[in-house]
Parts: sequence; structure tokens; C-alpha cells
Amino acid sequence: MNDDQRSNTTYTAPVGSIDMHAFDKDGAAYEIWPCHHCHPWHGEVVLDEGEVIVREWHAIGCPAFQELLED
Ligand SMILES: [Zn+2]
Repeated sequence: MNDDQRSNTTYTAPVGSIDMHAFDKDGAAYEIWPCHHCHPWHGEVVLDEGEVIVREWHAIGCPAFQELLED
């Protein structure tokens, strides 16, 4: 994927976050790949009441982010 295809979601686009589990129910780690659809994507690992959570940040308008929110 080249930069032209994500030119609508620039590095300065407003971002939103979604919290993901860091492990599946068997304790295996999830793989986290950078978003191909927006530039501002980044992740944080946070501790929430003793549980490790992966917080992904995407541009608000990112189609992959919208898809995650619908799940
Ligand atoms: Zn994204």
C-alpha cells in the first residue's frame, strides 16, 4: 500500500482509541500490525485493573478503525 491511498488520513488527523485484549483466552499473544489505512496509527500498552490492554489509536476517519468499532 502506498502513501497516496492514505492521503486522506494525515499524521495530524484527529485520532480515537480502541482497547484490545493483549492475549487470547489461552494466553497466546495477539500480533499487532501497524494500520495500513491511516498515518497516525500507534499503540499503547496499558494496565487496566490488573489486565494488560493494548490501546490502538487510529485516525477517526480510518476505515479499519470504523470496522473495529463495529465489532
Ligand atoms: Zn487506522
